[in-house]
Amino acid sequence: MMEPKQRNEIDLFKVAGVQIAIDYSWLVIFVLVLWSLSAGYFPELHPDYPMVEYWIVGLAATLFFFASIVTHELSHAIVANHLGQPVERISLFIFGGMAHLGHEPTSARDELKIAAAGPLTSFILGALFLSIPRVFDLNASFPMWASVFNYLGFINFALGLFNLLPGFPLDGGRILRAMFWARTGDFRQATARASEWGRGIAYGLIFLGALQIFSGSLVGGIWLIFIALFLKGAASASYQSIVIEQVLGSQRVSDLMVRDPLTIDATTTVADAIHDHFMRHGYGGYPIIADGRVAGLISLSQVRDCPADQRAHKRVADIMRPLDPAIVIAPDAPVSNALRQMAESDSGRLLVMEQDRLVGLLSRSGVAHFIMLRSQLGFTPPGGPRSASTPSSAAA
Ligand SMILES: [Zn+2]
Repeated sequence: MMEPKQRNEIDLFKVAGVQIAIDYSWLVIFVLVLWSLSAGYFPELHPDYPMVEYWIVGLAATLFFFASIVTHELSHAIVANHLGQPVERISLFIFGGMAHLGHEPTSARDELKIAAAGPLTSFILGALFLSIPRVFDLNASFPMWASVFNYLGFINFALGLFNLLPGFPLDGGRILRAMFWARTGDFRQATARASEWGRGIAYGLIFLGALQIFSGSLVGGIWLIFIALFLKGAASASYQSIVIEQVLGSQRVSDLMVRDPLTIDATTTVADAIHDHFMRHGYGGYPIIADGRVAGLISLSQVRDCPADQRAHKRVADIMRPLDPAIVIAPDAPVSNALRQMAESDSGRLLVMEQDRLVGLLSRSGVAHFIMLRSQLGFTPPGGPRSASTPSSAAA
């Protein structure tokens, strides 16, 4: 599976220039898999071994299982990097792994190659694992280890097949999108159709999960439903971000920012800031100036969080978000980068600065307003004719 962006991660190590990281949610699935293999699967297959042996093979199988997922994602990343589509990060999370693509593939052919690499790698791994017990004749000498490799072979084939389900953003859905895209030349329309399939697949999985629950497999059924809901959300989110990126197109921060924004002096009390600035001008945030330089950013939420009885003597400098690179952007940066940065820094606005000089303020609501205007009025891509891929119809 491939998806942009995630947080709360621990960086592990780098392979072929790609950072491997684990999301905290991954620990849940790691423990679940380890426990179900060591306390359920292997003892059932091979009774009468000492407990410690089940946990040793269980741990080995679990580690190889996750190594298989990393290898699957790594194959996407290596092919993508080879085609000049940067992937710098792979993360493991509760539902598996993700290779984070810096941007969407630039051609249908590249999309197809990047997407197909994953399942293909899983099938190769599956065949390798299945061949090990046969080549080394483990069934006679180490039957429990033979089961470990058989399990890994099975799980890799299952992984490859599941990812081939034709619903975006699964690999199969990306292959489907590449085919629609190649046929029509319309990337957005292809994404819309592949996402539609993704939602269909998700509903199918929810139905299967419900069947499992009624047939007595409660945990497995609930798990499948969770995965389905995740896929459904990811399908819609990927589609929306593509529409937004297309509407924003090549817009720069300087095109959408408020120039020469009103500022507040750092020594102003919170009460005065409310009375003289927030209530008077109606803006949701202001740069804070100390000794003629930008010192930070204050927004309505920080003012609101300041208790009413402290507003008369607290100064805006005490409660502002101090200046740091996370809330600063250059005027020539693409607006889509600014939106990403707002999400990552959890700030509704960014200071637009040229070196040390404040040149503007960009707010999320300002960008949202622009997107709304463009999608309602329709738009012509700069320098080109109106194409079939304009999002005006989709966003209406
Ligand atoms: Zn994949």
